[in-house]
Amino acid sequence: MSTFTKRILPLALGVALVGGLIAGVAGTSFAQGDSTALSASHSESVADLTADAETDRIAAEALAAAKPVPCPARTTAKMCTLYRAALTASTAGKYKWDSIGCYRQDRLPYHPEGRACDLVYGTIGRRAAGDNLSDGTAMKNWLVKNHTKYKIDHIIWRGVIYSPNGNWKGHPQPNCNSGKITECHYDHVHVAVVR
Ligand SMILES: [Zn+2]
Repeated sequence: MSTFTKRILPLALGVALVGGLIAGVAGTSFAQGDSTALSASHSESVADLTADAETDRIAAEALAAAKPVPCPARTTAKMCTLYRAALTASTAGKYKWDSIGCYRQDRLPYHPEGRACDLVYGTIGRRAAGDNLSDGTAMKNWLVKNHTKYKIDHIIWRGVIYSPNGNWKGHPQPNCNSGKITECHYDHVHVAVVR
């Protein structure tokens, strides 16, 4: 080996080694950085997806917890839809009934078919007065206003029937001149929906 070679070879090896190291480090560094970045962004998106799934799960649970208001027993789907809307509106407007009766036997088809409810203002058998009277009238007005939306067949309040017969403006309930309290609806608003 010449002196030249003795001198140059280690230098060349050294350069190659250093270059290789640099390249290696750079490559490693790039690869590592890249894969770290990839895995970071990957784990981040997985975390986001997990967070979204968690949010969805919580929302679904909240929805399930906020169960729809149960239908009054043995009422039709249309009656229940009306009932829920009337409950919401009258609760917000502070004119909600004091008690309610829907399905029952009757000589007329509405209650036995589950498509009528009686919304009592005050006590059954006692003529509604004061707040009970104004609340019952507010309920009747809301029902008349929303008769199309909730497929209402007719409403009766205080001896007056509101129906397509009379264009929802109200016509006298037959045989109510003497003002029989319950029969003539002075203590409750009667509402029926179509079949
Ligand atoms: Zn009734």
